[in-house]
Amino acid sequence: MGKHLRKRQNTWIDFGFSLVIIALIITGAFILLYSGKNEASSNSDKSNSMESPATLIDKIDSNYPGIKIITETSNDSFAPLAIQYPESAYTEFNEAVSTYITKSKNEYIQTMLDYKKNDGKIHGELNISFKTYLHNSGNYSFVIATNSSSSGTSSLSEIRTFHLNPETGQTIQIDDVLQNNEDNLKAIATLVKNEVLTDEKIKDYIMLDELDISMLPKWNNFSSFALTEDELIFYFDKFQFSTIEAGTPTVKLKLEEIEEFIANPFKPIQKIVTPPPTNEEKPENKESDTPNVDETVESEKAPESSSEEVATPPSSEKLVALTFDDGPHPTVTRQILATLKKHDAVATFFMLGSRVDYYPDIAKEVQEAGHELGNHSWNHPDLTKMSDERVFNEIKNTSNVIEQATGQPATVFRPPYGAQNDTVRNQTELPIILWDVDTLDWKHRNAENTLSIIKNNTRSGSIILMHDIHQSTADALDRILSHLTSEGYTFVSVSEIE
Ligand code: ZN
Repeated sequence: MGKHLRKRQNTWIDFGFSLVIIALIITGAFILLYSGKNEASSNSDKSNSMESPATLIDKIDSNYPGIKIITETSNDSFAPLAIQYPESAYTEFNEAVSTYITKSKNEYIQTMLDYKKNDGKIHGELNISFKTYLHNSGNYSFVIATNSSSSGTSSLSEIRTFHLNPETGQTIQIDDVLQNNEDNLKAIATLVKNEVLTDEKIKDYIMLDELDISMLPKWNNFSSFALTEDELIFYFDKFQFSTIEAGTPTVKLKLEEIEEFIANPFKPIQKIVTPPPTNEEKPENKESDTPNVDETVESEKAPESSSEEVATPPSSEKLVALTFDDGPHPTVTRQILATLKKHDAVATFFMLGSRVDYYPDIAKEVQEAGHELGNHSWNHPDLTKMSDERVFNEIKNTSNVIEQATGQPATVFRPPYGAQNDTVRNQTELPIILWDVDTLDWKHRNAENTLSIIKNNTRSGSIILMHDIHQSTADALDRILSHLTSEGYTFVSVSEIE
């Protein structure tokens, strides 16, 4: 009897097993067919002309140099998808991204196939899109968000980040940003956890045990991040430590506030480095300064600066020098050039060597428009903390790249943060130019504020500090120029005012 039963069981096992194998073959064939079609269309530059492919693939240039956007769409009524992801000139980066995309796609298709087996009526959707953040180090952060759903009942959301410096091909991870230092990681983990616990959008939906695990100071726990101009942003998965109401939790830390934990290349470009000058250091002509200018001094200016900057012009003509730092920038600098042209105004651009190297065409456009070219160091370090040799190289390499790009040498130098000492002064022949009107445009990013600070503080001989990397500055410029013109000012380069 036992023998008979076993035989019966075996038959059933065999039958079940065969079913599984058949299912696997069908699934495999479908996936092969599916990916085969994708490959066929990706090999074709003009996939649009193909006869109803499963997936349309399109490739366009992005607004970010060196980055293309790949779009894949399928209107398949059973498993529609819309996918966008970045492509660079670097194989390693491209493979990492496409491996992730393919994995998400296959998981989705597999899920849909499983549903189809049970109930042909289920519909799904896969949506993958991405955002790009540019940090001043040249690093791009790509934040890829994947959303998939089936019949609207279950939906998955996931965020993954990829990084690339399109200039060097270098990719970074969170340990590069935090100096590969476990103590820094611990400090950041604590800060992130505090943010989560106090965030209005998250705090009521937290699963505490899961949060504790997610916030352990392990590199993997913080591997999804983006670096923006002034923030370090961490991304966590839906349901990782919160219920559905919290969505995909995001925590933003200001670079300024975590500067001590950040590796040099990623430190915020604008920071407070020097205390306000004492009264003894203030030259006489500063005494009439408004409180606004004093505020300015507190935030950015080096004590040595004051004596060199504002010379009253000999004539009765009212002169003003507009200066733009930290560029060139592909869109903001161009908008500024167009506005200057409209008002027939000249300005001075203190450029970073690293950015001229990256955007030589924009630097050339600045020169061709007749503006003065200034050197603002290669990478915006605090030069007073560097050796003679490094200061020399920061300045020399920048002058070289400006001349290469524009065919014309930089004629003035402005140290980052206005920070200077004998070491800095001894490493260059160029006149060192600071400013007396600080618009604080980098801080408030508000066109109205930029305009009103200029209105309240400009006098004849003023040198106005702005940055041609902020949209709000470009947007303020038309009104700034109209106002100063109506006040009778003539726009000159800083060399003409000194
Ligand atoms: Zn600067």
